[in-house]
Amino acid sequence: MHPTVVILGRPNVGKSTLFNRLAQRKIAIVDDTPGVTRDRKEAPARIAGRDVTLVDTAGLEEAPPDTVAGRMRNSSEAALRAADLVLFVIDARAGLMPADRAFAAWLRRASLPVLLIANKAEGRGGMAAAMEAFELGLGTPIAVSAEHNEGLGALHEAVAEALGEAPDEDEDEDTGDDPERPLRLAIVGRPNAGKSTLLNALIGQERMITGPEPGLTRDSVAVQWRDPTGGLVRLVDTAGMRKKARIEEKLEQMSVASTLGALKEAELVLLVVDALLGMDEQDLRIARLAEREGRAVVIAFNKWDAVEERTATRQKLDDVLTASLAQLKGIAVVPLSAQTGRGLDKLMPAVRAAYALWNRRIPTGELNRWFENALARHPPPAVSGRRVKLRYATMTKARPPTITVFGTRAEEIPEEYRRYLVNSFREAFTMPGVPVRLQLRGTS
Ligand code: GDP
Ligand code: GDP
Repeated sequence: MHPTVVILGRPNVGKSTLFNRLAQRKIAIVDDTPGVTRDRKEAPARIAGRDVTLVDTAGLEEAPPDTVAGRMRNSSEAALRAADLVLFVIDARAGLMPADRAFAAWLRRASLPVLLIANKAEGRGGMAAAMEAFELGLGTPIAVSAEHNEGLGALHEAVAEALGEAPDEDEDEDTGDDPERPLRLAIVGRPNAGKSTLLNALIGQERMITGPEPGLTRDSVAVQWRDPTGGLVRLVDTAGMRKKARIEEKLEQMSVASTLGALKEAELVLLVVDALLGMDEQDLRIARLAEREGRAVVIAFNKWDAVEERTATRQKLDDVLTASLAQLKGIAVVPLSAQTGRGLDKLMPAVRAAYALWNRRIPTGELNRWFENALARHPPPAVSGRRVKLRYATMTKARPPTITVFGTRAEEIPEEYRRYLVNSFREAFTMPGVPVRLQLRGTS
């Protein structure tokens, strides 16, 4: 069974034109007159290499025109219920109409996977016009011109991403990523925490120079390997890869600049902490830097073999994390010994799990169920005596998860309430150790 992709929108936004463009065959009749008879509403299509069944609802929505609810109850609704993906089309030139908003509200509630298509966005100014559609709360509008064949590439990509991998091709679906694209990992930490030892243990061979002469620097050492979970991992250059040879250098503070460079390049940061010393201010600084850069973080609690008071040591770490790293609440900690290899088997699965969360996309419907609950449990405080009305949330981006909340005076919400929303989101969708971004946008 091919996935069904349904094109929806009010009359005259260009559904049939888009349908013809995607089906690459002239099937539906395109006419300026709304309500013109259409002979065919379904066609096979190939979108970004995937076979789909494309359904055009043009004409269907015109039956009982009074309310959207009324329209939805008939055949369109049946078509929509069977959809694997809805392409919701608006007319970027005409701007948003009440009918668009009504359709959007219905779609958000129905929690169907939706891509918002801003059609007729050809030429200059098209993109700007399309951006108005942001406020529909259905994610980032994809600006296209069905008639002039513009923006269709982005549309194809978005459809492919929304549909995920074809079922028989690969089951690596949780990241939505090309399985052969390596995960970019940075191993960071204080000098002597055991970064080189850990890397050697991970790649299973002495790929690193273990005792270089002082002053020997090696720039951008790329190491790539296949981890036990089967995925490719590419190590991005870190200061830790340059083995410090002299005692004085070991005492030197780790350079923020070089760590920052590695963080920017990486998707996931493996922070190696020396369990004999515990997590100190420098480790926290690195973790906060990673969070600020929007990277997922996993802690390798190294030298576990040499720790005597294990329970107390672990407790102390948890206390420090709770007190000083609330932004990465629930961060994964893997106690291990890079030297003996004990616990190493738990590391890459933890890394993969954090990576998958960091990549995760939450459907708008699911997100708004959480949002409504969160608001009900704890309504936003008034700002200078005036009520703040938050309307809906949408996940505008993954990597890291980014939520945009729309509402009247939304941007005036106090920091405390933002934190409440972020924490509530993190709990609802179990996002430990992943930075979460919250954007607030005022609507009138
Ligand atoms: P439907 O009722 O939603 O199926 O809309 P149609 O596909 O029949 O298109 C309605 C009108 O919009 C027709 O006159 C199309 O030629 C026009 N149209 C469709 N796509 C575009 C576009 O990308 N740009 C412009 N300027 N007009 C378009
Ligand atoms: P780097 O500066 O972070 O790259 O740290 P190294 O990998 O050079 O390790 C620093 C020191 O810690 C070396 O003497 C290692 O032998 C030691 N070390 C590394 N991992 C472990 C471990 O799991 N257990 C113990 N006991 N020592 C370790």
